[in-house]
Amino acid sequence: MARLCSGAFRLVFLVVGTAGVWGAASGRGEAQLRGLAADGHFSINAPNQAAADWLLAEAQRLRRRLALRWLGAPLPPGRGMTVIHWELAPDHDEGTTSPALAPPRRRHLVWLRTSPQRVRETLAHEMVHVVLFTHFGNSLPVWLHEGVAATEDDPATRAKRERIFAAWVQSGRLPRLGRLLAKGRIRPEEQQAYTASALLTEYLLARADARRLFRFGQLGLEQGWDHAAQAVYGAKDIAALEQDWHRWLRQRAHGAVALRPRPGVRLR
Ligand SMILES: [Zn+2]
Repeated sequence: MARLCSGAFRLVFLVVGTAGVWGAASGRGEAQLRGLAADGHFSINAPNQAAADWLLAEAQRLRRRLALRWLGAPLPPGRGMTVIHWELAPDHDEGTTSPALAPPRRRHLVWLRTSPQRVRETLAHEMVHVVLFTHFGNSLPVWLHEGVAATEDDPATRAKRERIFAAWVQSGRLPRLGRLLAKGRIRPEEQQAYTASALLTEYLLARADARRLFRFGQLGLEQGWDHAAQAVYGAKDIAALEQDWHRWLRQRAHGAVALRPRPGVRLR
């Protein structure tokens, strides 16, 4: 199952770690410069060797940092082998993660089509999917995947979501919870769904920790959302949870709640 992640609203800004990589590639044909790098968890194919080396180090760092932040412990060694392919595309910013969920596929595949200026955040967003798929398999809903991955997005992408949110509040038309929970896929152009996913995740992390957020996602898919809302958050049903979410969103619009999820939430 592919996860498509759009980064159409990211701003261009200098990425210190890749500026030299881009310089090394300029003036020569990309095809003859492809770089390869690998370790026990990653196999990298990048625009040139310096880019491949940088991407491997960054992926290793993200694998550790994201697992500690969201799972409370590193992923076990040898789990979640991932192939990362970076296609240089100065005018694009796209990332896709296709997880290895069943044989014969044994490796997650991350495809990046982006510029050196944007690759850091795009990789971080996709690495959230890699870490979650490695730990949870396919047991989490798409809105939760994207809501957690959204915490790695760059400031311009966050600003775009804030503008969408402001328009909702102004019009009085807040997103329907049932529709979001039922989504089996979010297409790259569905920025409203990405925004709703980010805001629902932020709200649920304001209510309780990541362990309960993930439990809610798993239980909802297994036994239905009314049951999950009751068992995990003590809400009567999804309608009651939606009412509380909307109340929280209106408070957020007036600056009455924190604008980012609490960092460092742990499972154990
Ligand atoms: Zn994504």
